[in-house]
Amino acid sequence: MNIKTLQFLGILVLPILFLASCGDDDDVTPTPPNNPDAIEAKYREYVDRFVTEGVDRGFDVDISELTVVEGIAPQFQEFCGYGYSNYNSTGRPRVEISDVAFCWDDRNDIEKEALMFHELGHAILARQHKETTYSNTLPTSMMCSEACAGANLFFVYNTFTPGLRKYYIDELFDPLVDPPSWLSKTDTTQFYTDDFEDDNSEWTFEAVGDDQGAFTANRYDTTMTGDIALSITSDGSLGFESFAYWLVELDAPDIPEGAELKVTAIMDLEQVTGDGLSLVARTDVLGGDDLQISGFETTQGSISFNGTEQDRQVSVIMPYFPNRADKLSVFFLLGGEINGKVYCKDILVEVME
Ligand SMILES: [Zn+2]
Repeated sequence: MNIKTLQFLGILVLPILFLASCGDDDDVTPTPPNNPDAIEAKYREYVDRFVTEGVDRGFDVDISELTVVEGIAPQFQEFCGYGYSNYNSTGRPRVEISDVAFCWDDRNDIEKEALMFHELGHAILARQHKETTYSNTLPTSMMCSEACAGANLFFVYNTFTPGLRKYYIDELFDPLVDPPSWLSKTDTTQFYTDDFEDDNSEWTFEAVGDDQGAFTANRYDTTMTGDIALSITSDGSLGFESFAYWLVELDAPDIPEGAELKVTAIMDLEQVTGDGLSLVARTDVLGGDDLQISGFETTQGSISFNGTEQDRQVSVIMPYFPNRADKLSVFFLLGGEINGKVYCKDILVEVME
């Protein structure tokens, strides 16, 4: 299994494992803090950044009474962070961050920022959760909880979506801010299309964690209706950690930040059991030592595929294209626990700006 695949597997399973990230409830009696006035050193940088962002927008951010500590009250341990605007009726704001590595130590800088800013939104700005979404599925606010369970609070923006970051921080300090201009799309361009009828050699197949031949692939398969298609068959004998996919990698330097990318596949299914089929779009930034993923969207967990069907049309949407994408990868993927056969007959990639 190569590094890319490991990364892919990692990024793929993350949204399933993720816990809801916080809450806001002042009528609780958590364990009293050891040091009520402290902002622990590892969090200071993110608190300072929050103050700077507020001041830059004309807000006088008062953190004089703020406490930020590691460790979550026992009754809220399913959360990564918790923000109190009036902790234990003391009138003091307080943020608690989980000591679970998944919630902080394993997070990159921008993910830590998103979690801390959200909790400070509760604690310093006394904001409640806001669960609305825009028509492109993005949450209206980084004060989302349920509404960002799919997109995930940690990934509500990233290093490669500075316009998205600016909007969410604007909205954090001013909930009445105008909707962002990048919501309005007027032009649709066909970026890539393939019906697999002729040459499909740019598509590659890979099976991960399959040492027994549970997956089989056919590059020029024929469906019941006579269409040529890429296919994957799985005997269902493998677990969730195994999967197989067809992949195409496209150059994508000309798609602007904030564009909406839509990948649509037309598929036939034959006696598919379980919901392990997904369509994935991912953008990568090349050149560094590590693979950097600037965008990732999957239908996993949001669309159900099973049984026998013809001409099932499925789309995965990247609502806000990153400012760097040296490569755009489209995966059509089947999990090892699935029994059945899937044909991909057509793929269309569209860009809306
Ligand atoms: Zn919250």
